[in-house]
Amino acid sequence: MTSQIINGKAIAESLLNNIQSKIQQRLQTGKRAPCLVVILVGDDPASTIYVRNKRLACEKVGIQSIAHNLPSSTSQADLFALIDALNADPNVDGILVQSPLPAHIEEDLLIERISTLKDVDGFHPYNIGRLAVRQPTLRSCTPFGVIKMLQASNIELMGLDAVIVGVSNHVGRPMALELLLAGCTITSCHRHTKDLATHVRNADLVVAAAGKPGLIQGDWIKPGAIVVDIGINRLADGRICGDVDFNAAKERASFITPVPGGVGPMTVATLMENTLLGLELREHAQN
Ligand code: NAD
Repeated sequence: MTSQIINGKAIAESLLNNIQSKIQQRLQTGKRAPCLVVILVGDDPASTIYVRNKRLACEKVGIQSIAHNLPSSTSQADLFALIDALNADPNVDGILVQSPLPAHIEEDLLIERISTLKDVDGFHPYNIGRLAVRQPTLRSCTPFGVIKMLQASNIELMGLDAVIVGVSNHVGRPMALELLLAGCTITSCHRHTKDLATHVRNADLVVAAAGKPGLIQGDWIKPGAIVVDIGINRLADGRICGDVDFNAAKERASFITPVPGGVGPMTVATLMENTLLGLELREHAQN
C-alpha cells in the first residue's frame, strides 16, 4: 500500500489564510487586531527558532506580536510580575512562555499564573479540564492542530482504535483527550508500557509523541492505519526526524504525516487561532 502523505504545511497555510481574513473583517468593522505576547527566557537555539516561526505567523495573519526576550537569570518573581501585568493588560489577548524554562522556574506554577482566557497554549489545568469534560475552550495547540489536520484530510475518527505514544501534560495527555472527544477508543502508552509493539500493531490510528527517533517501527503499523508523528528530534548530523520510521511505515499506512512539514506547522496555526479566540472570548465576557 502506498500511503497518502498529509501535507501539514499546506493545511496550516489555508488555516492561516482563514484567520487572516477574519482579522481583516474585524479591522473593517473598527475592531482591533489580536495581540500575542511571547516570552523567551534564555537563549535555547531551538526555542529561538520556534519563537521566530510564531512571530512570522503573527505577521502573516495580522496579529500584533510582542516579544519579551529575558535573560536565563530572570527570577521567578520577576517573571510572575510580568505575567500579572500582561494578565491585567486589556490589549493583550494571548500569553505564551516558550519552554523549556530554566530549572529555577517552576513551570506548573507559571502555567497556573497565566489567565485562563489568555492561555493560548492551552496548558492551564482549567483549560485541560474543560477538554476533559467535553467543553473545550482554549485547546492545547499541538493536539488540536492534529485533530484539525485529520479533519482537513477527511479522516473519520469516530470509533477508531487510537494509540497515543507519550503522556506528557502538553502533548500526549491532551492528545488522548482530543481523540476521546472525537469518538476514538484510546490507549495511552508511555515509557513503562510493557509491550508497545503489540499496542501499535492493533491501532487504526497511531499518534507518536515520545521524542525518540525511530521508536515506532514500520512493521508495527497495521496495514491501512493512519500514522501521525508529533515527534521532533534533531539527529547528530543536524537532520530533523520524528518518532516513526517514516520510510518503512509509509509502505503500510493509509495516511502518514512527515517530519518536518506535518504537525509542526499545524501547532503554529492553532496558536494563531487560539489568540483570535482569546480576544473573542474576552469580548464576549465583557458584553
Ligand atoms: P516529553 O519528554 O515531555 O514526553 C515524552 C513522553 O514519551 C513521555 O510521556 C514518556 O513516557 C514517553 N516515552 C518516552 N520514551 C518512550 C518509549 N520508549 N516508549 C513509550 N513511550 C515513551 O515530551 P513532549 O513535550 O511530550 O514532546 C514529545 C515530542 O513531541 C518531542 O519530540 C517534542 O519535540 C515533540 N513536539 C512536537 C510539537 C510539534 O508541534 N510537532 C510540539 C510539541 C512537542
